[in-house]
Amino acid sequence: MTLDDHTKTSVEPDSQVQYIKGVGPKRAQHLAKLGVRYPRELLDLYPRDYEFMPPLQLIEELQENQQLAIVGQITSMNLIRRSRPARFEIQLEDDTGSCKLTWFHGGYMRDKFIPGDKMAAWGKVTKYKNTLQMVNPKWMKVESAQEIFERADQGYPVYSASGQLSSNDIARIIRGSLNTLLDLVEERYTDEFHQEKKLPSLRQALHWIHQPKEMDQIVQARRRLSYDEFFLMELGIGIRRHQLKQTQPAFCLEINETLDKRIRNLFPFLLTKDQDKVIAEICEDMKRTEPMNRLVQGDVGSGKTVVALYAALLAIGHRKQVAIMAPTEILAEQHYLSIERYLRNSQVKRLLMTGGFTGKKRKETLEKIAQGEIDIVVGTQALLQKDIQFKQLGLVIIDEQHKFGVRQREAIRGKDIAPHYLVMTATPIPRTMGMTIFGDLDISTIDHLPPGRKDIKTKWVATEKLNNAYEFIRDKIHQGQQAYFVYPRLEEDLLKSDSEDPYNGGQIKAAIAEHQQLQNNIFPEFEVGLLHGQMDREEKQMVMDQFRNGKIDILVATVVIEVGVDVPNATIMVVEHAERFGLAQLHQLRGRIGRGDKQSYCLLFGEPTTEEGTQRLSVLAETNDGFKIAEEDLRLRGPGHLFGTAQHGLPDLKIANILEDLDLLRMARKDAFALAQDDPFLTKPQHQVLRKELLKKFGDSLDLVDVG
Ligand code: ADP
Ligand code: MG
Repeated sequence: MTLDDHTKTSVEPDSQVQYIKGVGPKRAQHLAKLGVRYPRELLDLYPRDYEFMPPLQLIEELQENQQLAIVGQITSMNLIRRSRPARFEIQLEDDTGSCKLTWFHGGYMRDKFIPGDKMAAWGKVTKYKNTLQMVNPKWMKVESAQEIFERADQGYPVYSASGQLSSNDIARIIRGSLNTLLDLVEERYTDEFHQEKKLPSLRQALHWIHQPKEMDQIVQARRRLSYDEFFLMELGIGIRRHQLKQTQPAFCLEINETLDKRIRNLFPFLLTKDQDKVIAEICEDMKRTEPMNRLVQGDVGSGKTVVALYAALLAIGHRKQVAIMAPTEILAEQHYLSIERYLRNSQVKRLLMTGGFTGKKRKETLEKIAQGEIDIVVGTQALLQKDIQFKQLGLVIIDEQHKFGVRQREAIRGKDIAPHYLVMTATPIPRTMGMTIFGDLDISTIDHLPPGRKDIKTKWVATEKLNNAYEFIRDKIHQGQQAYFVYPRLEEDLLKSDSEDPYNGGQIKAAIAEHQQLQNNIFPEFEVGLLHGQMDREEKQMVMDQFRNGKIDILVATVVIEVGVDVPNATIMVVEHAERFGLAQLHQLRGRIGRGDKQSYCLLFGEPTTEEGTQRLSVLAETNDGFKIAEEDLRLRGPGHLFGTAQHGLPDLKIANILEDLDLLRMARKDAFALAQDDPFLTKPQHQVLRKELLKKFGDSLDLVDVG
């Protein structure tokens, strides 16, 4: 460590960053955009990469075939256009000699220098016509040769440049005040802690991350800083989890033999081992006065609805009410219909709440709910959270959690008694995600599908084979089966960034046009229906009903049917432009078929243009296993894509990588949960640094402020 060999210019911890050497008011504004207002925060701008410069050498002593660096003054510059490719040459001179530097395609360099400027260049030394030179060397502009002596032999940090601030600007500012800045660092932990965890101190880590002497220091520093990021995230999760459990009591809803029998009798099949296991976990939770916060994950069609209904009937058996929330009205209706199948002959009073309930009807309905005359209310989250008062809400079931985000769960909390929460998702969650995004939930998994399912056959159909595919589909429909044709929805950010895209804003147009085409030219003998998100509710419902009744043979749809739609007679899923969908999404779409006893087929139309696109389609053709697909999706696209942490009220990770640092994540989670248990509101004096940082990261999504 070289913390002491510097001239200290002390900085007050709360002074503004503009007073740091080399910053000033203008740059302070740019830094503010990067989240840096105070000097200490400069250290949180972690380099995104490093360059290791080879040893510095005098020009006179350069040797052929070695990786070396030189520093000197530019004496001449020359752009040679007539050579092919055009090349740019610089003559660089130090006290001992002069060396030619050549960049092919180097025209862009011309405006960066004027003769007299100082620069450093490094790379392999080669010989051409008996003189030594460097071809396409790396380079940087320097203000003095001294600057480069200091960094020779060290990893040179590369920062994410931003607008007016180049990586070099940031490097210079941080390097210029590094020791002063490091003096501002508050340690979170004791030395014993660092030793036990084999992690460097925070000050040491920040030093190494900005000024490493060797690769190992970077590795160590990253580990420490990643641990801190994970720890803070998990502490936030742990505290939230603790608060969910502790702040309000829930009804104690215990299962007994009679009730269990009565519930099971409603199902026309025996529950699978997996369903039984998950139900046991749920019963264990619901008999406690701490509210349950459980996520049930299982592939599409694995039987989650049955499990959720069991939980609902357990609550109703104790004369409590149940709310079932889905992300869209179509899905809410679908849920309603599927529980209807089991409840047809029961006395359970159930209600589908739709936006169509207005005026008097709505008032009457709300009144009934408030009086406890209705046992199960199914609806969209928006509807159910508005102004509904339950008499005794015992359980909230939320479908497809990842579409909501964690925070919305709070909104439907009861007044004095908290309901139990059961969240269902058909997007299997890789283990890593279970510890992060869904980290405040207990997780139950249904691994195996109910018996007797035929595997869906998935085929990727190239354009020239389209006609064969149409004939195949025609044949199946003549046999009385039904088909979906799905067109891509583009994610919004994709729409914005990709204006060349023929589907730009035209998703619905595409479906409408294709609907015409299929109806008029390809399948004139069948009834082709159309369903998309911008139709109004009655229209959508009518189309879905007609498809369910078999009046419509082929349903052309945008991804509004992505989740939950359940028409067992539909055995064919065609996805057009399949390369435009994510893996998880394609898997969800495929889950719409294979619900009956007939063999089902998923046909992916499309011509992937990227390696990744090809890989996605072949993964899908290879496996029906949702967990494998989720892991693969995570690998191909990274965690951000899958769920988007920000929308879950979790801080973004700057340096830690949940895929690569799983062991660290585990360790941090264990430590954080222990702390959350010990000091859930972080009131102890030794936790004040943490508390401050946590509030900064999680903002008001944690209730620390009120209580502390
Ligand atoms: P998910 O909600 O996970 O997509 P569902 O609960 O809707 O799955 O079940 C999918 C299909 O499997 C339904 O048609 C349901 O009737 C059937 N099913 C569920 N559990 C069983 C079981 N134990 N045995 C046989 N069929 C089952
Ligand atoms: Mg379901």
